[in-house]
Amino acid sequence: MSFIIKNIIPVITAKWYGTDETCTIDNVSIDSRSLQNGSGTLFFALVGHNHNGHHYIESLIAKGVTNFVVNHIPEHLVGKANFLLVNDTLESLQQFAAYYRTLFDIPIIGITGSNGKTIVKEWLNFLLSPEYNIIRSPKSYNSQVGVPLSVIGINEKHNLGIFEAGISTIGEMEKLEPIIKPTIGILTNIGAAHDEGFTDRQQKTTEKLKLFKNTSVLICQKNETIDTLLDHNQKTFTWSFDNDKADVLLTKSNNSIGITYNKHHFSVSIPFQDAASVENSIHCLMVLLYLNYPEAVIQERIANLYPVEMRLQVKNGIHNCTIIDDSYSSDYQSLKIALDFLEQHKTHQKKTVILSDIFQSGFPVEELYSKVARLLTNNKIERVIGIGETISRHLQDFKGFISFKNTADFLNQYNSSAFENETILIKGARNFHFEEIVTLLEEKTHETVLEINLNAISHNLNFYKSKLKPGTKVMVMVKAFGYGSGSFEIAKLLAHHKVDYLGVAFADEGIALRNAGIDMPIIVMNPENSAFSAMVAYNLEPEIYSPQVLKRFITLAQQKNLSNYPIHIKLDTGMHRLGFESGNLNELITTLQHNNFVSVKSIFSHLSASDGPEFNDFTLQQIHTFDNWSQQIVTALQIQPIRHILNTSGIYNFPEYQFDMVRLGIGLYGVGNDENEMRQLENVGTLKTVILQVKNVPTGDSVGYSRKFMATHLTHTATIPIGYADGIPRSWGNQKGYVLIHNQKAPIIGNICMDMLMVDITGIDCKEGDTVIIFGEQPRVTEIAKTIGTIPYEILTGISQRVKRIFYKE
Ligand SMILES: *Cc1c(COP(=O)(O)O)cnc(C)c1O
Repeated sequence: MSFIIKNIIPVITAKWYGTDETCTIDNVSIDSRSLQNGSGTLFFALVGHNHNGHHYIESLIAKGVTNFVVNHIPEHLVGKANFLLVNDTLESLQQFAAYYRTLFDIPIIGITGSNGKTIVKEWLNFLLSPEYNIIRSPKSYNSQVGVPLSVIGINEKHNLGIFEAGISTIGEMEKLEPIIKPTIGILTNIGAAHDEGFTDRQQKTTEKLKLFKNTSVLICQKNETIDTLLDHNQKTFTWSFDNDKADVLLTKSNNSIGITYNKHHFSVSIPFQDAASVENSIHCLMVLLYLNYPEAVIQERIANLYPVEMRLQVKNGIHNCTIIDDSYSSDYQSLKIALDFLEQHKTHQKKTVILSDIFQSGFPVEELYSKVARLLTNNKIERVIGIGETISRHLQDFKGFISFKNTADFLNQYNSSAFENETILIKGARNFHFEEIVTLLEEKTHETVLEINLNAISHNLNFYKSKLKPGTKVMVMVKAFGYGSGSFEIAKLLAHHKVDYLGVAFADEGIALRNAGIDMPIIVMNPENSAFSAMVAYNLEPEIYSPQVLKRFITLAQQKNLSNYPIHIKLDTGMHRLGFESGNLNELITTLQHNNFVSVKSIFSHLSASDGPEFNDFTLQQIHTFDNWSQQIVTALQIQPIRHILNTSGIYNFPEYQFDMVRLGIGLYGVGNDENEMRQLENVGTLKTVILQVKNVPTGDSVGYSRKFMATHLTHTATIPIGYADGIPRSWGNQKGYVLIHNQKAPIIGNICMDMLMVDITGIDCKEGDTVIIFGEQPRVTEIAKTIGTIPYEILTGISQRVKRIFYKE
């Protein structure tokens, strides 16, 4: 893209407050942290709940960005940059994208529906790319922000666009339609997702159908309800298994689909069995039929559909490297996203990118690789390993470039000592099989992994933030290795989301975070005497909970010549764990009155029963006591500390008592204290392993230690390599608990062993090596905890450190 800023002003009906109307804009950004921002960037300062792009304008100006779309001009920045003043910056971004869309007269496929949007989009891209230069939404960029950013990626060379649109409430599709302006529509299906944003299914369906109001055709499953909601003039192209009014009638047999269309009959084999994949393949098939692809081509391409890996995964690598695995795609748009992700999650200063040839950018090759080179330079990538003939030819002048003809060449010459203490992004097109490179560079452990969904963490954080008043600060508790989910990776993500504080239990946890490069404020909840010195060295802030601890810390501060070292005063308002009591308050005040060695950053207390409605009176009493005592301290010392008392269930049940900050813990990790809260959270951790061996146990035989399980009929069993030493509670054995194999419940039989357990797989079609889910979406940790009479905290934090954690982002 290339615009003169002057020409953008009327498009978004902005008021101009600037000095140079002739600036050229060649990209649009909403992310202040991206290293891709520069002099050609038009930055839209979006305002969200607890996030405000206007706060970053100053630092962006320092980085050379000069053009901003804002809803107000921060006072001290008047005259320091060009400002386009508008009412609503998101709306302006959407207006700009809608305008941008009108500059291109190409066919656009618009996809919406409850499930399958991203897969259908990726598959269509694969199916149609031999004939078209395609632009598509990167990842699942389908929101009010994601759609405009996707569409802004179109360039002159593209001759087909595929964009997805996702909505969660009424009025949203109206905004997305003019941005995508699809010519061909696909409705994948209408399911339960986002029901809560609408009065009923009909309202939701009506809203979704708004995407198609200007399409020349809508492709969907034949459905009488949808027919009644459609405009009379709306042309449709429908399929069905049983309704012969559909344009395309289908039959399903084992591995293939029979197609009757235009009185003509043929069949295609599909490489999937599960209902969702079959439905997704059908929508792709319908597009090929609609575009008049010959039968033989349809058969050949559909048979080659493949599972889509949309996730960016963070893994531990050899020699203390961190691997970012994006080994299934390579296009210009997703490279930009992957580089931003690399910057956010890098664990080392040194960054390496292993990159294959790039396809389908729409740009001529020379232009493409010069853009890629610029991206890599802006992102301060020290070393680029290019694999493929095209990239090798075009990036050879890039500083720090090493080239290989193909993946096999790289693997042959592989030398593990070439990789050490760096973060490595591995990004390649599917046919380069970069998974083999990932396998080499990945740290070897056993098959059991705890997968952590970083999107879910962001979602849960935003859910609790949405309960906060603007301005309420957030501390996130990452004690006990981030509730078992991994402290450093989660801390990185939280730093990215700009939470205000992190809380850890012990000084060494804080030191580990500092060593990993986390520089935000960290509070240590159980500061031990012996660790005071180290805490100061690492800039960790102690919780001070008694007159003795206070005096000891002041003595240390004095010896070290510290002044105003931040401390946090803990009050015991009824929990009776740690904290000053009413009898200590005067002493606390007098001690603090006479010194400048420390400074009270915050005053807080902890609720004992914020999750129990039966204790509401007690909780309110605690809050009242806290308010009262902390007020006394504030008045006596004339200070303005941050006051805070709410933990996760406090935020949910007592939102009116946020004071100045809240302390979020378990909720971040996807555990709420009732059904309603749980429904609004996303599952974060999935504990997975594989079947080691399957057996047929005859009637009368037993399974496991102490012969606890006796087979009363021929029983098929599977042995699974995870046991109580990994943190699986023994009480979850003996048919109380189950695991999930191919979405079916397999009861755990017999006693759980130290490193293994056995399950009953009678009636489940599975084999050695198949995936087993111990917990995740199902069973949720909450279900396990309830069944065996414990709490989710204990299970999460009990998962052994020998279980490898893998972090991923959709
Ligand atoms: C652990 C902890 C929290 C967080 O509690 P959750 O119930 O997990 O939200 C908050 N404050 C203190 C002092 C804690 O120790």
